[in-house]
Amino acid sequence: MSGTFQNTTVGAIEAGGTKFICSVGIGPDAGMLARAHFPTGDDPVRLMGKVVEWFKAQQKMHGPLAAIGVASFGPVDLDAQSRTHGFITTTPKPGWRNADILGPLRRAFPRVALGFDTDVNGAALGEHRWGAARGLDDFVYITVGTGIGGGGMARGRLLHGLVHPEMGHMGLPRLSGDDFEGACPFHGRCWEGLCSGPAIAKRTGMPAEDLPPEHPAWETVIRYAAHALVNITCVLSPRRIIVGGSVRKAGRLGEEAFFARLRAAFREIMAGYIASPSLSETGIADFIVPPDLGDDAGVCGAIALAQEAHREKS
Ligand code: ZN
Repeated sequence: MSGTFQNTTVGAIEAGGTKFICSVGIGPDAGMLARAHFPTGDDPVRLMGKVVEWFKAQQKMHGPLAAIGVASFGPVDLDAQSRTHGFITTTPKPGWRNADILGPLRRAFPRVALGFDTDVNGAALGEHRWGAARGLDDFVYITVGTGIGGGGMARGRLLHGLVHPEMGHMGLPRLSGDDFEGACPFHGRCWEGLCSGPAIAKRTGMPAEDLPPEHPAWETVIRYAAHALVNITCVLSPRRIIVGGSVRKAGRLGEEAFFARLRAAFREIMAGYIASPSLSETGIADFIVPPDLGDDAGVCGAIALAQEAHREKS
């Protein structure tokens, strides 16, 4: 890819279940010229109106945007031929089922290229360009937060297909003694239903960040995550798995302890079956990693999606 496109000033939206983060820029850190947060709330039309006004104001200050990228919570419709392309589809989030994200942007900025993908594919693209997946063409990006999702690349292309991956909704073996009924409105005890932030709060009566380090829920969350990462490794054979999202910071337990225990549990469950140096006792520290871009992975991903859209249109 040419450097020209990567230095193009674009707009970016990380559309999350809690807030929409909007930015104008060319990349991470000093590459961001402006940013703003808007609470997601329960009225998509009103929120997208505010987002459009913000970008119009930014254009007056920073000049025309070459493209706008959206990395959205989902599920989303990514089929460019579909009448509902750019919509959020079956989310249980109140007010957001069949919400049109791309339409208001298309109408407000008819000449601007638009990029649209899942939040996790966006974050994966951001980590590929600027972060923990630089130089890797086969990797997975997971978020464990309000929901659980996974995206990534195979042979340097973002994972798409029928729709997009929904790794958070995989079924997992029940841990002995865990009779929690789950929190996913579609599947009950899928990974997201067992271990998302809201699922942890439902199981323990308190938010994950408040759990004491010795609380048994940490072991439960880590074991399930390890099972899921083993499944992902067996199915997709990634060269690295980046684990982002708020739960991975592990509150009072701490991110370092969370990753150390996750890597150990992964090796125990894998039981030496895949013989790769990346999965060895020392190699695993570079196989299961936190995002380099930290909490900015999503919004940086949206910048990268916009630059891709601009490149494709040019
Ligand atoms: Zn589910």
